[in-house]
Amino acid sequence: MARPLVAEISLSALNHNLSQVRRFAPAARVFAVIKANGYGHGLLRVAGAFKQADGFAVLTLTEAQMLREAGFEQPILLLEGFFSADELPQLAKLKVSVVVHALWQVAAINAAPITGINVFLKINTGMNRLGIAPAEVAEVCRALRLGGRLNQCVLMTHFATADDDRGVADQLALFAAATDGQRGERCVANSAAILRYPQTHADWVRPGIMLYGASPFADQLADAFDLRPAMTLRSGLLAVQDIRPSDAVGYGRSFVADTSMRIGIVACGYADGYPRHAPTGTPVLVEGQRTRTVGRVSMDMLAVDLSDIPLAGVGSPVVLWGDGLPVEEVAAAAGTISYELLTALAPRVPVREMP
Ligand SMILES: *Cc1c(COP(=O)(O)O)cnc(C)c1O
Repeated sequence: MARPLVAEISLSALNHNLSQVRRFAPAARVFAVIKANGYGHGLLRVAGAFKQADGFAVLTLTEAQMLREAGFEQPILLLEGFFSADELPQLAKLKVSVVVHALWQVAAINAAPITGINVFLKINTGMNRLGIAPAEVAEVCRALRLGGRLNQCVLMTHFATADDDRGVADQLALFAAATDGQRGERCVANSAAILRYPQTHADWVRPGIMLYGASPFADQLADAFDLRPAMTLRSGLLAVQDIRPSDAVGYGRSFVADTSMRIGIVACGYADGYPRHAPTGTPVLVEGQRTRTVGRVSMDMLAVDLSDIPLAGVGSPVVLWGDGLPVEEVAAAAGTISYELLTALAPRVPVREMP
C-alpha cells in the first residue's frame, strides 16, 4: 500500500464557497484570490472550480500566463503590481490588470509604448505595506488621466484589522476621504470584510481564505458562515506503541507519559507541511474521533494519543485537518493561521481531487 498521506480537494466545496461569496456580497463582482498556488489547493484546479468568478487575483505574470494558456478569459489582477517597467508590454499582451502602488509605476506607465491598461490604484490607508499616500491620490489620478495609457483606474485599499474587533471604520473613512470626487470603481474587501462589513463591498470584492472554506476570524469558525473546507489532509497510522509511565515520545523526549498509554504514529510530518511548532495537544482525528498530538512533530511522522480510542490500530484513518476538524483550530493550536497551513502543503503530498 502507498503511503497513506493525501490531500483531498473538494471541487464542490470550492464551488459552494464561491456561491457563499455571492450571497454575502450580491451586488459586487468577485476577484477570486488564487495566489500562492490557490492557497495550496492548485492554481489551475481552483481556477477551474471558480470559473464563474468575474476575475482572478494572483501575484505574477507567470501565473497570469498559465491562466491565459488554460483558456481563462476573465480579468486577472496582479496584486503586487508590476516589478519593473519591462513587464508592461507582456502585461498588455495578456490583458492583465495591475495594482499601481508607487509613484515610479505611474511614471513607468506614462512612458510605456502601450495603451488600454487596467490599473488598480492602491491607496495606503493604514496598513503601511503597499500604496500611495491618501494625499497623493488626486495628483496621481490626474497624472494617469493625462498620460492617456489607461482603459480604467479602479481605486483600491487593503484592511489591516478587518478580522478583529478593531474593524475597518478608520481605514474606510480615510479611503472615502482620499477618493472623494474621483471617478472609477472601488475594490477594498477581503474575506473578513466581505463577511462582516457589507459597507465595504463596493464594485469588486477580493475573497481569498473564505473560498477555501476557512474563517478569517479567531473567534468564529467557517461553519458559522456556511463555508465548507476545501482541503482535507488525510493519513493513517503506521504503527502503535504501548508505553508505560515515564516513557517518552519523539525527538527531545519532550512528551513524557505519566500513565500507561497507547500512541499512534501517523504518516505526516513537517516536510509534508504539518507545522513543526504544533505542540502536544494539537487536535487531530483518528477513526473520526478527536484526540491530540503528543511530542514533537518529526519530518515525516507525528505521534497521537490513542488512549481513548481503543479500536484504533495500524491502518486507522487520520484527519490532520479539513472534514470534521477545522484547519483554523489546528492553526490556532500551532500558534499560526489557517492561511499558513494551507499554503505550506508540500509538493510531495499527493492530491486527490474530489467531485
Ligand atoms: C491575499 C489578499 C486578499 C485575500 O485576503 P483573504 O484574507 O484571504 O480574503 C485580498 N486582497 C489582497 C490585496 C491580498 O493580498
